[in-house]
Amino acid sequence: MKCAACRKKLFRYRKIGQGEVHRCHKDRIVRMVHARERPDGLYCACGCRVGMDRGSYYTMVKKAVTYSGEKINK
Ligand SMILES: [Zn+2]
Repeated sequence: MKCAACRKKLFRYRKIGQGEVHRCHKDRIVRMVHARERPDGLYCACGCRVGMDRGSYYTMVKKAVTYSGEKINK
């Protein structure tokens, strides 16, 4: 998972199933890289909020992240 603003790697995520990664379960986050956990959500080191904390998972801000494991059509 990367930050769309600065393209830094946020964290490594073990994706299960098809489709977009909208919900990131915390127990599937393999390793935090540039992501920073704050009480109100998940932030990139550049200051962009990339996800909202929902307890056991994060709801990712769609426009704020890119997932490098999938083809991204632009
Ligand atoms: Zn960033």
